[in-house]
Amino acid sequence: MAAMPSDGLTLLIPEDELRAGVATLAREIDRDYTTTGVVIVSVLKGATIFTADLLRVLQAEVHRLEFVRAGSYGGGTESSGDVRLAGTLDPRHVNGQHVLIVDDIADTGYTCVAVKNYINGLGPASLRYCTLLDKPERREVEVQYDYVGFTIPNHFVVGYGMDFDERYRGLPAVYYFPDA
Ligand code: 5GP
Ligand code: MG
Repeated sequence: MAAMPSDGLTLLIPEDELRAGVATLAREIDRDYTTTGVVIVSVLKGATIFTADLLRVLQAEVHRLEFVRAGSYGGGTESSGDVRLAGTLDPRHVNGQHVLIVDDIADTGYTCVAVKNYINGLGPASLRYCTLLDKPERREVEVQYDYVGFTIPNHFVVGYGMDFDERYRGLPAVYYFPDA
């Protein structure tokens, strides 16, 4: 989607900064997985664009790319804390593997807890969490994000994979609604 947003969206992170941030994350991740390689589990749907860009700059060997679906938002902008997971992983793909979860944005922390608990139950050799964006002000549970691309203020953001009611995912940069 090349069109610029026209709904009062305000630019938060332009394309070149996203690219630089993803490259920096990739170097950190590379350092931790050079000898072992990594299995990536991407959290649908918001992390798809980020995951695709990250994969293309990672140098560590990616043994496998898998997806889980996590959702709690419905159509609104407030997380409900009730995270539904869908899209089960084959335990053989995770068991004994060094697994990295790749997500779009850390908000309350409930998604991180739910996805980590699920994958930990499948017996990975190690498990880390990468998020492109972090809104620490919104945290409701104490969780650890191992790799964070950008810490941002408490705005509802869209673009670069992230939606509002399924819209705006194709915007190449990250925008926010000034009044939300
Ligand atoms: P948490 O479980 O940490 O509250 O929420 C994480 C998930 O909520 C993210 O993976 C994302 O899907 C959604 N989310 C949280 N904040 C935002 C936001 O500002 N914009 C969009 N589009 N999704 C968000
Ligand atoms: Mg998400």
